[in-house]
Amino acid sequence: MAKKIFNCIVCGKHPLTKNEIGITKKLLGMKSKNFYCIDCLANFLEVEPQDILDKIEDFKNDGCKLFE
Ligand SMILES: [Zn+2]
Repeated sequence: MAKKIFNCIVCGKHPLTKNEIGITKKLLGMKSKNFYCIDCLANFLEVEPQDILDKIEDFKNDGCKLFE
């Protein structure tokens, strides 16, 4: 499978990390075509960046393969 490079749709940061892509899919849905970096995702969802990082840790602890 070809490796895709995703940009943050807001600030253009690239490449996004596997965690950033994974958490976008988790929070916005697997079919989301828009990806965000941690800061912009937090801004979009009106939460703190740390809340996003905490969620990533939670999913990792569940053994979710979307995260590293
Ligand atoms: Zn961004």
